[in-house]
Amino acid sequence: MVIALPFGGATGGSRHVQAGAAGQGRRVGVLALQGAFREHRRMLESLGVEVREVRLPADLEGLAGLVIPGGESTTMGKLMVDYGLQGPIRDFHASGGAIFGTCAGAILLSRTVLGAPPQFGHQPSLSLMDISVQRNAFGRQVDSFQTDLNVTGLDIPFPAMFIRAPVIGAVGAGVEVLARQGEQVVLARQGRLLASSFHPELTGDTRIHGLFLDMLPAAAQAADLQRSV
Ligand code: GLN
Repeated sequence: MVIALPFGGATGGSRHVQAGAAGQGRRVGVLALQGAFREHRRMLESLGVEVREVRLPADLEGLAGLVIPGGESTTMGKLMVDYGLQGPIRDFHASGGAIFGTCAGAILLSRTVLGAPPQFGHQPSLSLMDISVQRNAFGRQVDSFQTDLNVTGLDIPFPAMFIRAPVIGAVGAGVEVLARQGEQVVLARQGRLLASSFHPELTGDTRIHGLFLDMLPAAAQAADLQRSV
């Protein structure tokens, strides 16, 4: 099933805030199976990052980080399994790579997925991050909204766009909560993993991507990674 999402382009351009230069000259992959991968690509490139679209395990070679975009987590999860990417992405993380999952991407990072329709069977995820995620927790597509979010580490609020967004429920001991919408956790970090319920790639504000780029392994470590993946 293909669900139309308003991934038409950037909003909030007048509030554009540049992130730091942590990504200059680094190579980051964007999982390009389905969803809003082009928008992430554009935003990362605007930060001086070299971007590669990842569809097959070999595409992970030499990357310092990987973005898993928003879209439809059931479709993306199924394609991830069909393309043999689940194990290689876990290995990529285990050998030092950083991963940022936005919305459906956060669902794919989580250990436990709640709210998956039973008729689709077990929903695959990478089970990398010690969080449980409740799908579609803010309602349906028509309930999508944008709001200013206070984020740990950012001095002014971030214009966060929520589209059929999940919330992060239980978080493990190693998980740092970076933002809440009301009582709900919507941005969290665990080591080299970052998960957001919302879509930072759909605003003109690069600061969340900047936080992710700060999590990339140092260049020397990335060279080792290149050899080991
Ligand atoms: N509701 C979608 C899912 O569960 C996620 C929506 C999104 O990524 N914007 O997969």
